[in-house]
Amino acid sequence: DQPVLEVHDLHVTFTTEGGPVPAVAGIDFAVAPGQTLAIVGESGSGKSVSSAAVMGLLPSNATVKGEVLLGGRELIGLPKDELRTIRGNDIALVFQDALSALNPYYSVGWQIAEAYRLHHDTSKKDAWKRAVRMLDLVGIPSAAQRARAYPHEFSGGMRQRVVIAMALVNDPKVLIADEPTTALDVTVQAQILRLLEDVQREFGTALVLISHDLGVVAEVADDILVMYAGRAAERGTVRDLFFRAAHPYSLGLLGAMPRVDVPPRHRLATIPGSPPSPGSITTGCPFQPRCAYAHQVGERCVTERPELTPRPGEGDHEAACHLGRRPEVAP
Ligand code: SF4
Ligand code: MG
Repeated sequence: DQPVLEVHDLHVTFTTEGGPVPAVAGIDFAVAPGQTLAIVGESGSGKSVSSAAVMGLLPSNATVKGEVLLGGRELIGLPKDELRTIRGNDIALVFQDALSALNPYYSVGWQIAEAYRLHHDTSKKDAWKRAVRMLDLVGIPSAAQRARAYPHEFSGGMRQRVVIAMALVNDPKVLIADEPTTALDVTVQAQILRLLEDVQREFGTALVLISHDLGVVAEVADDILVMYAGRAAERGTVRDLFFRAAHPYSLGLLGAMPRVDVPPRHRLATIPGSPPSPGSITTGCPFQPRCAYAHQVGERCVTERPELTPRPGEGDHEAACHLGRRPEVAP
């Protein structure tokens, strides 16, 4: 399938009193209708900034370079009012914090109906009907009654369903979900992910799932982009990442994840240290200060920045690492 969203060589730099701070330093991704791309990394990796850039939601001190193509149309540099027309209509966003996405003073049905009316010339009555249908579709029981309830009258999981209903009300081509389940307990997390999968199948939506947790996205993603310090560390299919992880950082993320089906030798309890700010990396590999394999490679990790390189014989699987072999935790 042709991708509906394509991002090429995206750069985001914030202008601050202390000088320019790069947050994203050249990333590429694409997602086709009905497909799920997961963007994974720790906080500060640039994954949320990237999605905000796609949505045109960055603060005014941000400079964005590169290409963001939605159905072939360039979004970067579009006037604000045109972006507003696209946002919520062609691309919708679901955040971690469902409460902040909802207005406490209006019923959820009213808010979903208004989100629909913002992009459709329709009566309040028809918009309300649509809102009820969406609430029903995302699994809110007795949707016709519950549409009259206020956000605080829902549990966290049900509230996230409401937000997903609102995001989908205009049948967007692309849904970006930024840590959509992080605030929820594990059982509810699984339900919400299953819901995202279901609605995606129903609507043929392209889903960009942003998470710090490789385990969470494994269930639903087709492709995975692992970001570190504003760059791509690795990308490939879910199978590539789980069975052929080629970047030590990806391996660390896998190890940080409680799974019984990953052999213990592939586990690290945690990745020591914390990610650098992208601006502090001038030469070499951004992961070098935390990398357990750097000493095996030597100087090159310090002096030469690894570029994303295809893994021989592994299709579109790519990693940015100088290590000539697959990393493995020593037994
Ligand atoms: Fe580690 Fe070197 Fe690979 Fe960077 S390039 S991840 S420092 S081995
Ligand atoms: Mg984030």
